[in-house]
Amino acid sequence: MSDSNYKAVFRCIAGCDEEYPLDEIVYRCKKCGALLEVHHDIDRLKELSPQKWKELFDSRVGTTQWPYGSGVWSKKEWVCPEVDNENIVSMFEGNTNLFWAKRFGKMIGMDDLWVKMCGNSHTGSFKDLGMTVLVSMVNEMIQRGKPIKAVACASTGDTSAALAAYCAYAGIPSIVFLPRNKISTAQLVQPMSNGSIVMSLDTDFDGCMKIVQEITRDNSIYLANSMNSLRIEGQKSISIEIVQQFDWEVPDVIIIPGGNLGNVSALGNGFEMMLQLGLISKKPRIVLAQAQNANPLYLSYLNGFKEFKPITPKKTLASAIQIGDPVSVRKAIRTLQKFDGIVEQAGEEELSNAAALADQTGMYTCPHTGVALAVLLKLLEKQVISKKDRTVVISTAHGLKFSEFKVGYHEGTLEGVTCKYANRPVELEADADVVREVLFKELDKRSRVKY
Ligand SMILES: *Cc1c(COP(=O)(O)O)cnc(C)c1O
Ligand SMILES: [Zn+2]
Repeated sequence: MSDSNYKAVFRCIAGCDEEYPLDEIVYRCKKCGALLEVHHDIDRLKELSPQKWKELFDSRVGTTQWPYGSGVWSKKEWVCPEVDNENIVSMFEGNTNLFWAKRFGKMIGMDDLWVKMCGNSHTGSFKDLGMTVLVSMVNEMIQRGKPIKAVACASTGDTSAALAAYCAYAGIPSIVFLPRNKISTAQLVQPMSNGSIVMSLDTDFDGCMKIVQEITRDNSIYLANSMNSLRIEGQKSISIEIVQQFDWEVPDVIIIPGGNLGNVSALGNGFEMMLQLGLISKKPRIVLAQAQNANPLYLSYLNGFKEFKPITPKKTLASAIQIGDPVSVRKAIRTLQKFDGIVEQAGEEELSNAAALADQTGMYTCPHTGVALAVLLKLLEKQVISKKDRTVVISTAHGLKFSEFKVGYHEGTLEGVTCKYANRPVELEADADVVREVLFKELDKRSRVKY
């Protein structure tokens, strides 16, 4: 069943009148070359009252009624109404927990600090949220007779893992282009396991992005990068879910790490849609966190977004955001301008220690989430964020995908990083007396921890 009541189309973001149906193989405006976005028929959606939408969304949380138990498809009417439920490719993504960072917050003087655990998902990153929509639409297009042979993406690791898994679930061939030696082992193994054609190229992400755009000129290979705005529609559910988890209250500040800059625009779109449809009346402030070694948007922010210059990024531990020429930069700037936005950066040592400190309070933080947490610490220090603000940090991936980062930190081998919170295993002979003596010394140190 598709929801023929509701309609959405691709529309040019530069304001041309160009519109295309969602089942057309098109990624840019044919007139001006700008990116497209999915535009919903807001008037139609307004026929349901804000209260009714909230009730509908609340009623679907955790349901087994296909496909509404998914955090993305529970918002189907707002995301991608035209796909037939039978063709949806979903692993019940979304519905990730909102972690109350109680002890971490206490350490830094905040008691209303939350981490949205988007990495607690099938492939371990928020990329699942967008990929379920894109692959579902591809599945729908194939059913409608479009000659699509495979789906392809360039990736810093997490997009390819999500694409590979969703395509494998649907039985659709996938192709991933990865920068050689620039992603974690787990990220490389994921698409290999799911049977993707894995192309490991001697370049960086931006180089892979160029190749995939060349390859997908052939319409039989569909492009799955976030310049394809179907992904953004799924990722938009993050904002709706956060507000829903706060019983439909809007937090004051949201901090999100960004690289190719699709996700921050998705975050903004979710809030805008809730505002337009009257579910909320307040906007959060959005903070985009970049790694200092890959900071083109930060540099542009410093000049008031007057100009944007792509850069060649340096190596960063936050490998998923090591991007110098972000495809969605215009969308991101638009979002930040609407949401009183801030861009702040964090260096390698800052991100590593922020991640490790968070881990000591029960999290298991990926380096990108480390960037966001380090930026939080900085903005608190600068008093840009107040300790009283209800603040949500978007955790974009699961720490388990970044074992090299974790091991390197605790072994003290991360280049240029003084690991303040390294915790090495105590290696001892198996002798109870020796063990007891060392153990009680260690315990004594721990009991002096203040929080
Ligand atoms: C993709 C990704 C990001 C960046 O998202 P963009 O939409 O490219 O800005 C951040 N963190 C992780 C873990 C990611 O996989
Ligand atoms: Zn246009």
